[in-house]
Amino acid sequence: MPECNIMNTYNRFAVIFTKGYGSRVFDINGKEYIDFVSGVAVNCLGHCHPAITSALNYQSQNLIHVSNLYYTDKQIELSEKLINLSHHKSVFFCNSGTEANEAALKLSRKYGKLKKETKSKIIYMKNSFHGRTMGALSVTGQIKYQTDFSPLIPNVEAVTFNDIDEIKKAIDDNTCGVILEPIQGEGGIICAEKDYLLEVRRLCDTFDCLLIFDEVQCGIGRTGKFFAYENFGVIPDVVCLAKGLGGGFPIGAILANEKADAAFTKGDHGSTFGGNPLACAVASSVLDEIINKNILNNVIDISLYIKDKLNHFKEKYNVIDEIKGLGLLLGINLKIDSKGFIKKCFDKGLLLVGAGSNTVRLLPPLNLNYKDADAALSIIEEVIKEY
Ligand SMILES: *Cc1c(COP(=O)(O)O)cnc(C)c1O
Repeated sequence: MPECNIMNTYNRFAVIFTKGYGSRVFDINGKEYIDFVSGVAVNCLGHCHPAITSALNYQSQNLIHVSNLYYTDKQIELSEKLINLSHHKSVFFCNSGTEANEAALKLSRKYGKLKKETKSKIIYMKNSFHGRTMGALSVTGQIKYQTDFSPLIPNVEAVTFNDIDEIKKAIDDNTCGVILEPIQGEGGIICAEKDYLLEVRRLCDTFDCLLIFDEVQCGIGRTGKFFAYENFGVIPDVVCLAKGLGGGFPIGAILANEKADAAFTKGDHGSTFGGNPLACAVASSVLDEIINKNILNNVIDISLYIKDKLNHFKEKYNVIDEIKGLGLLLGINLKIDSKGFIKKCFDKGLLLVGAGSNTVRLLPPLNLNYKDADAALSIIEEVIKEY
């Protein structure tokens, strides 16, 4: 471990990174790694993509920050691009996934309050992850994150993901919102069932509450569709975005449809840094690159290729339980200890991250090429052979 003054909140690898390019990162000793973590689904175009560095370079010489007391050309431009890609009406910009979820939770509370004083219950999913602030943590359905920080915000209720009967029992006229990840990321790459989402959509309409999809990890092309909700044919009232949106530069956003949008008025929510022109210029360049370079097709094609190889490993060796996920949001459920597996891959120069109880996540950049996919797969096979 390096000697340093960084607070002890992460279980970090003993490595100091200094450079990155494409799907590769380099540590302080010059050792090269293939990065299948991508800053946890953040660096969607890989490291230091020229579209991003040139947007940063250009915008840093024009306008970096002015506050949301004013409009900027770059914020208007980015909101237009997001709305054109979505089924929604308006955007609120913030700086992270947690902040996007906070904004969505507040929006649902306000939506409820406008109907009646007691309409404030928020339903969330067991095994979910929505962030670490008090609001987002209150709807994160994992005891290990919540337990030391109680009391959390009141009037939230957890239900089992993909269990229609449970949410039918929980939802009522006093419910203002339902929040879920269409694909639970941190919880172990668990996909929603299409029928479940259709039924939750119907219930939210019946009880007049907002359906919020946290697409912080699964959005921005990660599943092969720009928004994860497009895979299910279910359109939420609010979509939460961050991670891949800035391709490595911090930015978050929520998209709201007409009925959700109407609940917020002047003064209801805000952010000093949210949607500053530098962040918006970078995000705008990320969206252009994803759309104009057909990166979604690459995600679909290379995902099939990787899944095929992983399923082949599953047949050939007895350490893999299941291959899960969509697009380049993939999970390998292991029969062996995932932490040890990840460490062995790390030592051989492949970065991977765990999820859930025993899943290894593969989150390579969306513009991954076959050569780098093969390099990562061959390290994975080498490590599998050691068991
Ligand atoms: C990472 C993540 C968050 C939290 O985002 P931050 O940018 O770390 O605040 C929230 N929801 C999901 C689904 C995530 O994957």
